[in-house]
Amino acid sequence: MWDVVALGEVLIDFTPSGWSDHGNVLFERNPGGAPANVLTALSKLGRKTAFIGKVGQDQFGRFLVDCLENNGIETSGVVFSSDTSTTLAFVHLNEEGERSFSFYRNPGADTELNSSEVNPEMLRNARIFHFGSVSMTHEPAATATLEACKQASECGALISFDPNLRPDLWKDEWSAKEAIAKGLGYADIVKLSFEEMQFLTSADELEEGAAHLYEQYGTPVILITLGERGCYFHCRDYSAFVPAYEVHTVDTTGAGDAFLGGFLNKLLEKGGRLASLSEEDYVEMVRYGNAVGALATTKKGAIPAMPRQEDICEFMNEELSRHR
Ligand code: ATP
Repeated sequence: MWDVVALGEVLIDFTPSGWSDHGNVLFERNPGGAPANVLTALSKLGRKTAFIGKVGQDQFGRFLVDCLENNGIETSGVVFSSDTSTTLAFVHLNEEGERSFSFYRNPGADTELNSSEVNPEMLRNARIFHFGSVSMTHEPAATATLEACKQASECGALISFDPNLRPDLWKDEWSAKEAIAKGLGYADIVKLSFEEMQFLTSADELEEGAAHLYEQYGTPVILITLGERGCYFHCRDYSAFVPAYEVHTVDTTGAGDAFLGGFLNKLLEKGGRLASLSEEDYVEMVRYGNAVGALATTKKGAIPAMPRQEDICEFMNEELSRHR
C-alpha cells in the first residue's frame, strides 16, 4: 500500500543563480514540478510515495528520475518518451523577488502521458491520490489525469488537488476554469492560493470564496494558503485562520507543496479519513503544514529545501516553548 501516489509533471526549473564573467545571467538546473515536490515533502517525513508521469529519454529525464529515487520516491510509474523532450521551465525573478515562468514544452513529455501508461495497481493501492492542473492543459495527459482520479477515488483513495494555475500554459481562461472544475469534482481536499480562489470564484474575501467553492463543487476540505500570513481552512463544520510561523525566509519556491505535504502527512497520522476529524484536528494539521511550509522557505530551491520530520519536531517544540 502507498501512502500517497501523485500523477503529473516533473520538469527542470532553471533558476537564476548569479552572473557569468561576461555579465550574463546564469541558470541552475533544479528538479521541479508541484506533484513531485509534494511527494518529496511526504517522503522526507517518512511516507511511502510513488510518482506517475512522463519524461523525455534524455539527460534531463534521467536526472529527474534519479532525483525522485534519491528522495525515496518509487519511480516505476515514470514512463520515458523516445520522441518528446523533458519539459523545461525558466524561472524569472522581478525586483520584488516574485517569480514568473517561461515553459519550453512544445509539447513536453509530461503532456504525452496517456491512460494506458498509468499503472492501475498503483491507483488501487493508494491511500491518497494527489494531482494538479498542469497535467490537464493538453491531451492525452488531461484525460489520463482525470481517469486516474476516477479510478483512485473508486478504489477508496482520498483525492488531493492543487490547481497550481499557470495561465500561460492554457489556451484561454475558460479552458483552465473548466478543467479545474472537473478536478474539483473529484477532490476531497483542495489547496489554493488566494489568487486562485479569486480566479475561480471572483470573491475578494476569504470566507466568501471558500464558501462559494464548497457550495459549488462540494469539495469537503478547502485550504487557502496565504504565504507569510498562514492558511485559512474551510470544511463542512469548521473554518478558521491559522497564522504562519515567523522564519528567516530565503526562497519561497515550493512552500505551498511543502505545506500540503505536511498537511497530508498529519492527516495520514490521524487515520487518513475525513469523517472522524474534529476542529482541533484540522487546526493541528494546518499548523503542521504551516511549519513544513515555513521551514521550506528557509533554504533555496523546492526539493532540496524540504525539511525532515526531526527538523519539524524540533522547530515546533522551540516555537511552543518560546510562546509559553
Ligand atoms: P508555491 O506556489 O511557491 O508553492 P503557494 O502560493 O502555493 O506557493 P504559499 O501560500 O506561498 O503557497 O505558502 C504555503 C504555506 O507556507 C503558507 O500557508 C505558510 O504557512 C508557509 N509560508 C510561505 N511563505 C512563508 C513565509 N515567508 N514565512 C513563513 N511561512 C511561510
